[in-house]
Amino acid sequence: MSHKHQKRRRGHFCWSCQRLRANEKFSGRGHARHLCKDCSRLGKEEINYRQATRNMDRLLTWDGRIRRGRLQQLEEYLKHENERVRA
Ligand SMILES: [Zn+2]
Repeated sequence: MSHKHQKRRRGHFCWSCQRLRANEKFSGRGHARHLCKDCSRLGKEEINYRQATRNMDRLLTWDGRIRRGRLQQLEEYLKHENERVRA
């Protein structure tokens, strides 16, 4: 486990646009979800899609291989409700 602890934060990292953004770029709800205002406006479908692709990336190694024991998790995405995720 890496140490992520920071005493003072100037902003939050938005997982959706993969950027560190100032606190004012996050609304109350976005703060908790680490989703900036710009990304909040993308719509539920786009956000779900980004979230799923991000989760899938985590199941892969840096060179695009499926991590040991993660194949089953990855296969779950083939049944995802969103066809873009399935693709
Ligand atoms: Zn964002």
